[in-house]
Amino acid sequence: DTQVHVNTQIKCLFDRIAQQGGVESGTRRKVKRLLSFQRYCHDSRLLRGLVPCAPGSLHFLDDDYLGQAAHMLSKVGTWNFDIFLFDRLTNGNSLVTLMCHLFNVYDLVHHFQLDMVKLHRFLGMVQEDYHSHNPYHNAVHAADVTQAMYCYLKEPRLAEQLSPLDVFLGLMAAAAHDVDHPGVNQPFLIKTKHHLASLYQNTSVLESHHWRSTVGMLRESGLLSHLPADMSQDIEQQLGSLILATDISRQNEFLLTFREHLDNQDLDLQLASHRHFILQIALKCADVCNPCRVWELSRQWSERVCEEFYRQGDLERQFDLEISPLCNQQADSVPAVQIGFISYIAEPLFEEWQRFTEPSALSRTMLGHLHKNKACWSSRRCAPSSPGTRTDSPDEEPGPEAGDEEGEDTP
Ligand SMILES: [Zn+2]
Repeated sequence: DTQVHVNTQIKCLFDRIAQQGGVESGTRRKVKRLLSFQRYCHDSRLLRGLVPCAPGSLHFLDDDYLGQAAHMLSKVGTWNFDIFLFDRLTNGNSLVTLMCHLFNVYDLVHHFQLDMVKLHRFLGMVQEDYHSHNPYHNAVHAADVTQAMYCYLKEPRLAEQLSPLDVFLGLMAAAAHDVDHPGVNQPFLIKTKHHLASLYQNTSVLESHHWRSTVGMLRESGLLSHLPADMSQDIEQQLGSLILATDISRQNEFLLTFREHLDNQDLDLQLASHRHFILQIALKCADVCNPCRVWELSRQWSERVCEEFYRQGDLERQFDLEISPLCNQQADSVPAVQIGFISYIAEPLFEEWQRFTEPSALSRTMLGHLHKNKACWSSRRCAPSSPGTRTDSPDEEPGPEAGDEEGEDTP
């Protein structure tokens, strides 16, 4: 009957995504979870050259690239950091390499008495559970968000106040905040009756999954097993609260609370609860900071996120589902999507963040890029669209600040 037919269709649909590397089939996933054999093979490569307490984190890189990647890491706190180049230089290990480096920078391994083998196993699992086939929600996005988070943790107003636990939570949440993202959004999971939607009762479905997957990997790796139970439980809860804050449908709730605190000037960063709130905001900023990057990086992210939306739209069209907002390639051009995103999500948030930082050099730089990028997308929206550029980007067109980026005193 009809219901059976619909169910068969939906099953076909998910099989198709699974083939594309989107949502893995239940069986394959279970096997992977049970055995973690794929991960074991992958990790062994990382672990071969493992030297605990080594000053660098680059022991597993190819020699040819080691120098260049290490040189990039020496500038990991600059806003111009090119995560795409770093990912190529590290042979697709940007997330693991970056996290190891930042854990060394903050001496977190020593502070929390972490086992290096377990740490590498955990980070390897996280990186591998991102879907490399997703144009946007992949491990490079996670590395990008982590790098941005690091820049925010260094903000003068914040840096002095943060405890090692705050830094640990901020970096871990950034690295894992989209893990195992299927490349489709929550409404899609709900209308196709995906099991995750019913598991999490149609609320923060993806974010809950990212968090619970992270907890699963923490426990599987045993990374925190040496800590007192109440402490590892607290870490798991705080990671959840941070990751769940990235649900874009809760954007206004956070923005209004943030604005109220700034208006009342009542943020007290001596209080752990206030620092936690700022970490939530910082992670949200890091997650949507693409428009604040230099044009050349910003443009690549814009095209990637739209490509992911369009793929969802293609699936919806193919299976006679209503095409979700922003997912219709014919109607939703990249410039239009970006202008909307910048105006309604990024700009209001970064304006408040600038107020919070009183304003810092980095905040000014970020808003400067955001305004230039917005203007550039506006001029492109007015220009006649170039057909057939779905994945080929119009590289030849100069961005808003082509040529004047060199020597900029970006913090
Ligand atoms: Zn994200």
